Amino acid sequence: MSNLTDSGDPIDPTVSDEMRENGLEHVSKSRIKKYLNCPRKFYLAYWCENRSPGSFHTTKGSRIHRAYEDFHLNLIEFVEENGERPDRFADLMENWRDYHQWLTPHVENFWMFEEDRWDLAMDAARHDKLDGDDRATPEIALDYWLPLGVEVEGRLEEPPTGDIPWMGYADVVLHAATVPGVDEDEGVVILDYKTGKTEDPKYRDEGIYLEGEFYGWLFEEDESFDHKVVAVAGYYPQNDDLVVSPYPDYERRNVILSAVEGMQQAPEIENFDYEEQPLCHYGDGRCFFYNDCPSTWGLNGGAGYHNDAEKDQSVTPAQKPEA
Ligand code: SF4
Repeated sequence: MSNLTDSGDPIDPTVSDEMRENGLEHVSKSRIKKYLNCPRKFYLAYWCENRSPGSFHTTKGSRIHRAYEDFHLNLIEFVEENGERPDRFADLMENWRDYHQWLTPHVENFWMFEEDRWDLAMDAARHDKLDGDDRATPEIALDYWLPLGVEVEGRLEEPPTGDIPWMGYADVVLHAATVPGVDEDEGVVILDYKTGKTEDPKYRDEGIYLEGEFYGWLFEEDESFDHKVVAVAGYYPQNDDLVVSPYPDYERRNVILSAVEGMQQAPEIENFDYEEQPLCHYGDGRCFFYNDCPSTWGLNGGAGYHNDAEKDQSVTPAQKPEA
């Protein structure tokens, strides 16, 4: 039986006349990753407009992101009004009901990360004083510490390939001198907050590094973005890890280009192959489109089948229902 989409309807594997006429709206990092992971999944999600309902993980992600966004916007306002940094970070947070269940470790680690950035901002300020800046060190440090942008949109109306705009939002743009693990004194770091556990290095080429390349490229080419991008990074507050992408990487750009071209092919199902893989059927989880896809991954006789106990304690994967 087909899963129900967020509108309550079963998955529909057809492309509407309107989509055929207008085409895809934009290219984003999540669309590129979805296409590379499985073109059929991309087709069903974006060309056929089957949106999966939200989950605990998407709610958690948006609430934690909102908490950090509020923090930075309130920090900028506080410094504008008071001319100094706040003593307490808790006062800068809003809507505590949104994030209180992730106070430890996410929000606590995020605050410590901001304290680390403050220490680096003070180091940079001391250098400036030696170079002749006669302001007080904490006053100089504020210039380094405050974000240069929060939820900044990057947009390319004339992208490197294809004819639909590229777009994305940087969670925060930080002065490079204040980002631990980035060895640059000038320029900015595009930073994305990640709300799950730190990505395993073996998945980073198709994961965070690919996202980083897309974001760096997007903001580098966006003429309205007035800063030099020297690094792109993801911060995982759950584990207090900062992962800096090896940037720029021109091979990774070629992967992005071929994905963007692939997703803009004529929207016929045969142009979007399905790619059987562990994400089709893992433990007691399934791809949202599994029941509407020919994939037999995990089924008895199919690839990925095993007899080990699943997370739900079953010892053989469930039979695939009729689509
Ligand atoms: S079930 Fe597997 S092959 Fe089918 S759409 Fe999902 S990821 Fe792709």
